[in-house]
Amino acid sequence: MSFLYETHMHTCQGSACGRSTGAEQARFYHEMGYAGIIITDHFTGGNIAVPKDLPWRERIDRFCAGYEEALAEGQKLGLDVFFGWEQNYDGDEYLIYGPDKAWLLAHPDIEHWTRQRQLEEVHKAGGAVIQAHPFRNRDYIRYILLGLKYCDGIEVANTGNKPDFDLSAKHYAEAYGLLTTAGSDNHNCATANPALLMGVELPRRLESAFDYARMIRSRGPIRPVIPRGWLDVDVNAVPHTPSYWIDEDRRDLRRVPTGIDFLLPVDRQST
Ligand SMILES: [Zn+2]
Ligand SMILES: [Zn+2]
Repeated sequence: MSFLYETHMHTCQGSACGRSTGAEQARFYHEMGYAGIIITDHFTGGNIAVPKDLPWRERIDRFCAGYEEALAEGQKLGLDVFFGWEQNYDGDEYLIYGPDKAWLLAHPDIEHWTRQRQLEEVHKAGGAVIQAHPFRNRDYIRYILLGLKYCDGIEVANTGNKPDFDLSAKHYAEAYGLLTTAGSDNHNCATANPALLMGVELPRRLESAFDYARMIRSRGPIRPVIPRGWLDVDVNAVPHTPSYWIDEDRRDLRRVPTGIDFLLPVDRQST
């Protein structure tokens, strides 16, 4: 018996780019046979739906509205609904699992945190940090930034990506032995293609977002769910994309280690 969870999704209440309500998303995933979902709306550094000039409490209340609606709907349906969020820095984005609304209310300085501070505080709270779609290359992303030091694992596949970005992520994960997850980054359940839904398959039901965070940090049995054929990309047809390590202490951005090109299979590094 296995249980399917969505790990990356948005609502129109929390995310400016979200198109479906929390309740619509909950109904959709229940129909799709998922055991549960984790709502990860865009937070303060990203495409959040809430104006910045409101008091912190109101900002967080409004930010959590999509999750709360999904939770209420999920309780009617028997779908687990957990809280998380997606924080953006410089195009590099992180999915946070574990801490809840009360924790956000108690940390109004969070929007000024560095990636390092984010990791430390989330760990202190018992949570986990996953770098979302690390090799996504879009017009809003100036360069690919790898936050290897600032996460507990990476999202190796994302429905919003092109498969070749995810092929790079797969080689990156293999080269560094990273824990991997997958997610649909679903903004609109009315147009989502059921055949391309992603997520993680777990051997048991989750009790909470902290439970999932513990599973990530203990490198528990998390199997990324990736549609068959998604990663069957001809690597030779994939254009080279410059990628950089993030090092907040050094404040410089350096090219990934000389000689490693994540757009090529790892076993071709030396050739
Ligand atoms: Zn979005
Ligand atoms: Zn997202």
